[in-house]
Amino acid sequence: MNIILLGAPGAGKGTQAEIICEKLKIPTISTGAILRQAMKDGTEMGKKAKSFIEAGDLVPDDVIIGIVKDRLAADDCKNGFILDGVPRTIAQAEAIDAMGIKIDIALDIEVKDETIIERVSGRRVCSCGASYHIKYKPSAVDGICDKCGQPLTIRKDDEPATVLDRLTTYHKLTEPLKDFYKAKGILVEVDGEGSVENTTELVLKAIGE
Ligand code: AMP
Repeated sequence: MNIILLGAPGAGKGTQAEIICEKLKIPTISTGAILRQAMKDGTEMGKKAKSFIEAGDLVPDDVIIGIVKDRLAADDCKNGFILDGVPRTIAQAEAIDAMGIKIDIALDIEVKDETIIERVSGRRVCSCGASYHIKYKPSAVDGICDKCGQPLTIRKDDEPATVLDRLTTYHKLTEPLKDFYKAKGILVEVDGEGSVENTTELVLKAIGE
């Protein structure tokens, strides 16, 4: 099954992707995670992306399309994949179509802006890719990753002013994707306001699990 996860930053896409990934045994492709790793490794792509990410802007479409094209060509995507945080513009969605990739479902996790702001302010992340929330998904030991024991940090782009910019960008450039996938008959909207478990239940139902 080829799945796209849509939703504002902090809607819970990454958290739900982790769960679907384990359940369906298909990989998650998170362009945000790939870009953060590239920044950490100091690659050319990472250097190019840094200023956009830290300002809360979108990284140019050509960079993202290149990442997706390479990643989806890998063997582990043959039986399906979850796209987390991509596409984020109509141009990216059209590029995925042009690659001849058939998407089965575009799952939109709906969360109000006020909730997003509260969630993002409590988000803590690990360099291994794991993500927590101080209130809703705490790590077992405060400030330490359950998976690898490394210290947790706050994403630079989760700072309040940047989050508002990211939300504005989301409404302007990413939200139109709902109509794009609705027109193809593959959009499913789920309410992401509840607990992680509640949302998971809705998400699994939507993908027929
Ligand atoms: P995320 O982890 O998905 O919230 O992504 C973090 C940041 O990486 C975003 O705020 C963007 O600056 C950049 N980014 C990730 N995915 C994309 C994408 N599909 N298109 C453009 N920029 C992206």
